[in-house]
Amino acid sequence: MSQQQEAIEQDALFIGGEWTAPQGGGRIAVVSPSSEQQVGSVAEAGAADADAAVAAARAAFAARGGWASWEAARRADALDAFADAYERRAGEFARRVSLQNGMPIAIASRIEAGIPLAVYRYYAALARALPAVERRAGVLGGSIDVRRHPVGVVAAIVPWNFPQTLTAFKLAPALAAGCAIVLKPSPETVLDALLLADCARDAGLPDGVLNIVPGGRELGACLVAHPGVDKVAFTGSTAAGRSIAEVCGRLLRPVTLELGGKSAAIVLDDAELEGAVEQLFGATLLNNGQTCFLSTRVLAPRARYDEVVELLAALARGLTVGDALDPQTEVGPLATSVQRERVRGYVERGRADGARLVAGGGVPAGRECGWFLEPTVFADVRNDDAIAREEIFGPVLAVIPYDGEDEAVALANDSPYGLGGTVWTRDLERGAAVAARMQTGTVGLNAFLLDPAAPFGGVKASGLGRELGPEGLAAYQHVQSIHGVAETTSTAAGQTASV
Ligand code: NAD
Repeated sequence: MSQQQEAIEQDALFIGGEWTAPQGGGRIAVVSPSSEQQVGSVAEAGAADADAAVAAARAAFAARGGWASWEAARRADALDAFADAYERRAGEFARRVSLQNGMPIAIASRIEAGIPLAVYRYYAALARALPAVERRAGVLGGSIDVRRHPVGVVAAIVPWNFPQTLTAFKLAPALAAGCAIVLKPSPETVLDALLLADCARDAGLPDGVLNIVPGGRELGACLVAHPGVDKVAFTGSTAAGRSIAEVCGRLLRPVTLELGGKSAAIVLDDAELEGAVEQLFGATLLNNGQTCFLSTRVLAPRARYDEVVELLAALARGLTVGDALDPQTEVGPLATSVQRERVRGYVERGRADGARLVAGGGVPAGRECGWFLEPTVFADVRNDDAIAREEIFGPVLAVIPYDGEDEAVALANDSPYGLGGTVWTRDLERGAAVAARMQTGTVGLNAFLLDPAAPFGGVKASGLGRELGPEGLAAYQHVQSIHGVAETTSTAAGQTASV
């Protein structure tokens, strides 16, 4: 168990392919949310270390004959080798994530051990498949070569909730495109991030292509504004995203922002929920409710409202809450004590606003040590209540009644956010038609799934840009057109030829 394991200590930063002594004296202590015990500590990077990391990345990016100018297939081989190195350590990645952020190990072993692998391999395959140059017939005559170049040095800033998956969403396409990266993990999850240095070495990534600097928001802000950074890739809160967008706007620096959510589950009148309890859990409460895309507003048809409320309450009451490293645990602790207090504040707010508490709401019996909270369900919530509008980021569901499909779609779209969402129905065509009316980046039918090929991201306060899919690769490339490369006879718009 976590407490008996030796603490993980790291005194150096990974810069320019070397473990490098930090220039400041700060340390980040990592505390297990299951036991409240310190489980490790790492050296904290400061502004001078950020300078060194960006300089190492710039040197790697600019090196003649270096990473950025490698054939795409050679980079793809390195990315596959990186995936192999990750796979060899997948169990340790899952364990460290679970230890630090409270994600149940059964979930970490599936998601944090598995999804990054699929993403690294997907982008390796995509880099091999996509032509670096596409020849187009010009509408006004002649031919044009459209070239895709790596955008340069990327500052990748990630949160603690799915640290490896969200890192892979940035690292894999950035590496496939030929960029060099400075990765800043969240202070809560630094022990897993530093393991990536071993993967980079095993895979033979040139020195400086991946640099890892643990630190907090000040370090993040320093990287966002750094003159040596060409692009920012951020996942985190909407508040931080807005401030990063302001800086990038002023600098005209490309930025991808994956931010918060308050997604809706539309339960249609023909939904079959009894047999879909596991999928419902995955779509609404996964990772102790600390998942950006969760459908935490459940919209139920009035005729089936009581049934849906009872089903969700029974689901919440039946979940096993416990130490994140226990394989039986379905709901672990919240990641920090601050986070638990925030979520408890929302439970109080729900009560004060007149919502009906039908499950949970308190600290589970016998779980006074650790930052646990019972899975919680509120019924009779209005869509304009705070618990239906604001992102809680904890295991708290709001069930809202609706009359007719149009009202369900209107309620789903009446949100400051637009990240995920689900539709529950036996009729997949009807479900897809309802999904298409939802103003949100990704919708799942009868479950919520991520796929490396499916672009992921949000609208409104949920962010800008997309990760995953070919769109996720394009976010790390700039496009250059070279005119007059050859005479052609065809002038049809859109005709293309690979060279
Ligand atoms: P956070 O915004 O506080 O921190 C995220 C990361 O950004 C951390 O590494 C932090 O150190 C850094 N940071 C914070 N402020 C910064 C600033 N001004 N400039 C630069 N860096 C800064 O978020 P969090 O509490 O760690 O994570 C939870 C949030 O992340 C939730 O809102 C959740 O919805 C969101 N999230 C979104 C997605 C998505 O894909 N849309 C995925 C997971 C989490």
